[in-house]
Amino acid sequence: MAITCPACGKVNNATVATTVCSRCGCDLALLRRMAHTSDYSLSEAVAWLREGEWERAFWLAKQSWELCHRPPSARVAFLAAAGLGAADQLLRWRRRALLDDEETNRF
Ligand SMILES: [Zn+2]
Repeated sequence: MAITCPACGKVNNATVATTVCSRCGCDLALLRRMAHTSDYSLSEAVAWLREGEWERAFWLAKQSWELCHRPPSARVAFLAAAGLGAADQLLRWRRRALLDDEETNRF
């Protein structure tokens, strides 16, 4: 996952293992850990979704979203909300799921 530097706005490539911004040297270690934890929560949410465990899937997808706002987390939360029959949550997560990556790829 690319990390946008909060100091200068440079998008730092996710494949580079560095923890500092390549432009300004800002420490990105905390943001990288947040992104990693978000990815882990999302993968767990998908696994629980496949098992039909809607509550766990929804909670983990929400956690993933709270750490890093990305459409894949919102899409899993949307599907889990559908499984739960939570109509109020469906609209919220549908709107977030339809945002493009440019709008949501931030913490
Ligand atoms: Zn920077």
